[in-house]
Amino acid sequence: MEQKETLLQYFEWYLPNDGEHWRRAEADASHLAALGFTGIWLPPAYKGHQGQADVGYGVYDLYDLGEFDQKGSVPTKYGRREEYLSAIRALQANGMKVYADIVLNHRMGADACEEILARQSAGHDRNQDISAAIPITAWTKFTFPGRGGKYSDFQWDWTCFDGVDWDDRADVSAVYQFEGKDWDDQVDRENGNYDYLMGADLDMSAPKVVEELDRWGKWYLETTGADGFRLDAVKHIRASYFTHWLQTLRQESGKPLPAIGEYWHRDADTLTYYLDQCGQVMRLFDVPLHFKFHHLSTANGGMDLRELFQGTLTGNRPAQAITFVDNHDTQPGQALQSWVDRWCKPMAYACILLRQEGTPCVFYGDLYGIPHDHIAPAEALPKLLLARKYCACGGQTDYLNDPDTIGWVRSGENCAMAVVLTDGSSSSKRMCVSAGMSGKIFVDLLEGRQERIRIPENGTVDFPVNAGSVAVWIPETMAEQIHLELKSGGGLR
Ligand code: CA
Repeated sequence: MEQKETLLQYFEWYLPNDGEHWRRAEADASHLAALGFTGIWLPPAYKGHQGQADVGYGVYDLYDLGEFDQKGSVPTKYGRREEYLSAIRALQANGMKVYADIVLNHRMGADACEEILARQSAGHDRNQDISAAIPITAWTKFTFPGRGGKYSDFQWDWTCFDGVDWDDRADVSAVYQFEGKDWDDQVDRENGNYDYLMGADLDMSAPKVVEELDRWGKWYLETTGADGFRLDAVKHIRASYFTHWLQTLRQESGKPLPAIGEYWHRDADTLTYYLDQCGQVMRLFDVPLHFKFHHLSTANGGMDLRELFQGTLTGNRPAQAITFVDNHDTQPGQALQSWVDRWCKPMAYACILLRQEGTPCVFYGDLYGIPHDHIAPAEALPKLLLARKYCACGGQTDYLNDPDTIGWVRSGENCAMAVVLTDGSSSSKRMCVSAGMSGKIFVDLLEGRQERIRIPENGTVDFPVNAGSVAVWIPETMAEQIHLELKSGGGLR
């Protein structure tokens, strides 16, 4: 069978702060492999400024993987260092690659303040100063007393950063750029220059910062044995920095180290521009496609489905597109909330799991639900994952020719699949499966439709679909096999 890459984001925002998540991942490893996952993206593993309550993006100490008593606890939200390393080994032993979450843009929770001269940048145009240089009190001194110099004795101070957003002496929140510093170039152009996101922003033009991050990358890779990276907030970091960081690590380790960047922008051209700017050292999440799904989910049947893949990274650069339906930022309650509604999940997942283009990344909150918000798992997901594993093979013929109902057919050597979806009333799509399937009985794996369809000699037949849903037509024998496999534990934890 051809090897298909299927990724899983193994966390959602509101996991309990119980320090048990690495152990959950380890116990889940064989089940995840059975569902066809080939890569697991684990959340940031280092100590954040909120200690065990930190999801991981408020980085305090990159060397503390749940080993030191810092920020109120030894473990992180997800557990201890040994549990993290053990989970990685278990996932790898089950044939999956582990993608580590890399957060290099900012630091939070400094150990001490410094008095610094800084100018306020205009919020809408960070290239403009709106004040002269004034003394501010900034949280920029990181000495990591709880770690005591283990692994690295590097200490951070204001010269490692470009700016902050808090003056402690005046109790004022604003974007402050340190006197003598420039915002890094090769960043997103929103707000004039979007180098600054939050916290103490790293100065990627400072040689000592680059050296320390290189040193840390090498240490992290040797310590964890991760196979690849998910790179956080790349639009706020000089593009050439990751070119350098990834190429250096790849050369030194001799490993391919695949990388996936998070560039949060709904314009596909901005994403392709960045891909070229960084020398295509990474793939990117297809944010525009996520917003297409969100539109589909909220347009009450008004979306023109012919345009579903237009203006997406999947449409323009399929080999570099990591497709996803939702993530920890788009889920309810989060800053980028744009949640794809429950009714729409099977359609959206069919689009990323059952087509040739793009590499899908499934969201933990869809696979297992989000108890915090009483969100149930997307029930169809295990079936769609196994449909990807067994039936999404060979070539693809598209029928993306109607505003309300679209479909496509996959034809492999031993299997075929006809997918039809609509955001309108119940309808059907006339499509041709391979002639080798003639005489075979096809059924809807998702069981929305109950009829058994016999494929005629010429392979062409009407495939029906219920209103506002997706039907996945596969050979009956294959559907039975998938149902059996799920019953025997494949779809349950
Ligand atoms: Ca930055």
